[in-house]
Amino acid sequence: MIVGIDLGTTNSLVAWLSPEGPQLIPNALGEFLTPSAVGIDNDGKLLVGRAAKELQVVAPDRCATVFKRLMGTDRKVTIADREFRAEELSSMVLRSLKEDAAEFLKQPIEEAVITVPAYFSELQRQATIHAGELAGFRVRRIINEPTAAAIAYGLHELKQERVALVFDLGGGTFDVSILDQFESTLEIRSSAGEIFLGGEDFTRSLANQILISRQMNFEHAELRHPLMLSRLLHECEMAKRKLSTSDTANVRFPTIEGEINEACEQVSVSAGQLNEWTSSLIAKTRLPLQRALADAGLTRHQIDEIIIVGGATRMPQIQTLLREMFGKEPRATLDPDLVVAMGAAIQGGLVHLNKAVTDMVVTDVAPFTLGVEIARDIAGSVKGGYFFPVISRNTTIPVSRVEQFSTIDANQTSVTVRLYQGEGRRTEDNLFLGEFELKGIPRGPAGQQVDIRFTYDLNGILEVEAVASASGTKATHVVTRHAKNMSDRQLREALQNLQSLKTDPRENQANRHLLKKADRLYRELPLELKKHLERLIHGFEEALQLQDASVIELNKKALEEFLNQFDEQH
Ligand code: AMP
Repeated sequence: MIVGIDLGTTNSLVAWLSPEGPQLIPNALGEFLTPSAVGIDNDGKLLVGRAAKELQVVAPDRCATVFKRLMGTDRKVTIADREFRAEELSSMVLRSLKEDAAEFLKQPIEEAVITVPAYFSELQRQATIHAGELAGFRVRRIINEPTAAAIAYGLHELKQERVALVFDLGGGTFDVSILDQFESTLEIRSSAGEIFLGGEDFTRSLANQILISRQMNFEHAELRHPLMLSRLLHECEMAKRKLSTSDTANVRFPTIEGEINEACEQVSVSAGQLNEWTSSLIAKTRLPLQRALADAGLTRHQIDEIIIVGGATRMPQIQTLLREMFGKEPRATLDPDLVVAMGAAIQGGLVHLNKAVTDMVVTDVAPFTLGVEIARDIAGSVKGGYFFPVISRNTTIPVSRVEQFSTIDANQTSVTVRLYQGEGRRTEDNLFLGEFELKGIPRGPAGQQVDIRFTYDLNGILEVEAVASASGTKATHVVTRHAKNMSDRQLREALQNLQSLKTDPRENQANRHLLKKADRLYRELPLELKKHLERLIHGFEEALQLQDASVIELNKKALEEFLNQFDEQH
C-alpha cells in the first residue's frame, strides 16, 4: 500500500488514492493536519503532533519544531537533554502518519511518496529519503510540492494549453513554480524560492514588533526568557491568523516566566500594522517570482492561472500582491493546507501505475545548476576554484549530461572530482556536495581526457561518473554519502536511538493531548477557574487510572467542554 505525504515545516499530512480520488487520512485526534512537532514528556514518552505543540508552550526545552529547515545539515536539536538530527525528528512525524494510515486503511503501509519544496537541495532531498527510511517506509519518490499541488488541481486534465504559476508559502519555505500543461502533460518550466521564508517569519515579525514596543529585543528574549518568548509566539500566531479575516486582534503579553494571567497587558494589533511590519517579507517573494518568470522565458501577462498553496497564502496581503502583479484573481478552490498531500497521493497512484492516472505524464526540473570544480589557465598561471556547470538550473529531469575535461599535469594518474551546486562562478560561492577520486589515468603528457557524466533522476538524486578515456577506468559517486548526510552506520545508530524512545499506545494519544492542553491553559486562568480546572484534570487522570471506558468518556467530555470555552484553537 502506498500513501502520499506532505512533510511540512509546520504541519504534515498523509493521503491515499482511493477509487474515488485522493482522500486525506485523519490522525489519532481525528484531524488531517499533524503539527510537525516532536516532544519528550516528563515521563520520557515521545509526543508527536498537537500534544508536542502544547508541551512546547510550557516546556520549550522538551520540544522541537521547524526542524525541516535543518534537513541535510549536521545541526543537532536538543530535546530533554537528548540530541537528534533533523532526519530523526522528521522520521518521528512520518512514523506517526504511517501509523495513522495503517489504522485508517486497516493494513500495513510500506511505501510513500513524500513532497519537498522545489527549492530543496540534493542533500535535503536525500535527508528526506533517510527520514522516510527511518520511519520504516520505502520511499518510492520525492516530488516537489508545487508539482503535487498542480496535480491535485488536475491541471494536466485541461484540454487547452495553459501556463500556471504555483505560489506556495508554507510555514517555513517559499516556492514558486511555473508549469505548462498541454495534452495531458504537466511540465515544470521553472522554479525558484527561498528556503528561509514562510508563515513563521510573519509570526516572528509580529512578536519582534511587540517586543520592541516594550523596549525588548528578540534575541535577548530568546536567550534569557525562552518561556516568555514561546508563549508570546503562540499568542502572535493566533493573532496573525485572526488578522487574515479581522481588522484587529489582541495579543496577551506573557510574564517573564511565560505565564498568562488576568493582569497581563493586552496589545491590540491592526491588520494595517501587521501589513506594515511584514512588508519586507512580502517584498522578499518578488525576486523568486521574477526569477521564475525569467527562467521560463515568460512575462507576467503570459501566466494564465495562479494557484496558491500553503497556509500562509491565507494572508490577504499575499493575495493582494498577486492580484496587483498578475492582474488576476489567484485560484484557491482547494484548501491550501491540504492540496499538496492530495497531489502526493495521486502521484503515489501514478507510481503504482494505478489505471486512473496512467495517462498522466509529469516532468520536473533540476532546481539548481550542478557542476564540478575546475582549474583555469589564466594568462599562463593555473588557478583553481572555478565552477563548471554541467546541468543547468531548470533543466527538465530525468537528465544525463556528459562533459569532457583534461588533466593539468604531466604524468597525472588521478583526479579529484569535486561536486557543487549553485549559480556562482567560483565554487566558494556554491554548495559543496561531495567529492571522489578517479584513479588509473595512464601516465603521459598533460591533457589526458576525462569524461564526467552527471545523471539526475526523478527524485532529484545526483549520480556522477568519471571515466578516464584512454584506459576506460571508471569511478562513480552518488550524492548520498556526503559528510552532511547520514552514513549507513549513522542510520543504523539513529534507528536504535529512535527505538529506545517509549511511545504511547495510539488510543492514549488523544488523552495525552488533552492533558497537555489542560496543562497549558491551567497557567493562563485566574485562581477560581484554576481550581475548577484542577478538579477536572484530577477527575480525568483518576478515570484513566481506573481504566473504565464509560467513566473516562464522562470525565473527558467535561474537561473538553471546559477547555473549549477558553481556547480559541480547539
Ligand atoms: P504549512 O506549512 O503549509 O502548513 O503552513 C502553515 C503556515 O500557514 C503557518 O506559518 C501558519 O501560521 C500559516 N497560516 C495558517 N492559517 C493561516 C491564516 N488563517 N492566516 C495566516 N497564516 C496562516
